[in-house]
Amino acid sequence: MDKGTVLVVEDEPNIADLVDLYLSREGFRVLKKATGEDGLAAIRDQRPRLVVLDVGLPDIDGLEVCRRIRATSALPVIFLTARADEIDRVLGLELGADDYLTKPFAPAELVARVKAVLRRTDGPQTAEILQAGHAVVDVGRREIRVEDAAVDFTTKEFDLLRFLAERAGLAMSRQQILDHVWGHDWYGDERTVDVHIAQVRKKLGASCTIATVRGLGYRLEPASR
Ligand code: CA
Repeated sequence: MDKGTVLVVEDEPNIADLVDLYLSREGFRVLKKATGEDGLAAIRDQRPRLVVLDVGLPDIDGLEVCRRIRATSALPVIFLTARADEIDRVLGLELGADDYLTKPFAPAELVARVKAVLRRTDGPQTAEILQAGHAVVDVGRREIRVEDAAVDFTTKEFDLLRFLAERAGLAMSRQQILDHVWGHDWYGDERTVDVHIAQVRKKLGASCTIATVRGLGYRLEPASR
């Protein structure tokens, strides 16, 4: 029942061992690395399906590790954070973490998050193409194109834009967005949606308008021609 490799980059051995224990039990092959540099080397050499990444590492921190991962791939990343200010940094940066957990966490919760992220990111391939204003959401290639050029979107940003593009012209509440894009088993707050919307707007520029619906959420405006 090999489900593929999960890399755990965590310098606290007891936490790394706990994650290893629970994910191994689920059929994942677990690789443990205690520094950011070793983690990046393992990503290059071992091609994991997902990375569980501690923010506080002894050499380069987890945020920088994620930045370097994102420079070349959309490999799913789940952050482990120890403090509230780390959560703010994770959410506030354009890093595209797929999820995060705050220490201390229940190992079963981590297992659930890992599975949920893999379900979202390994969905069946389709050839579907959606319009988001004048931008193109290529579901098959998991690519956003603005004026025929691919724009770098994180996993979550892509899923968010796809969700709104599928419902162009309709106002969607933050809770609806959270439920569909982050999943019912995700316990973050609605501010997460605002942070991601801001990033998506920035990347889309004038090609697509995502309107704020006061007191509710957001609406993607269909292109007017
Ligand atoms: Ca640490």
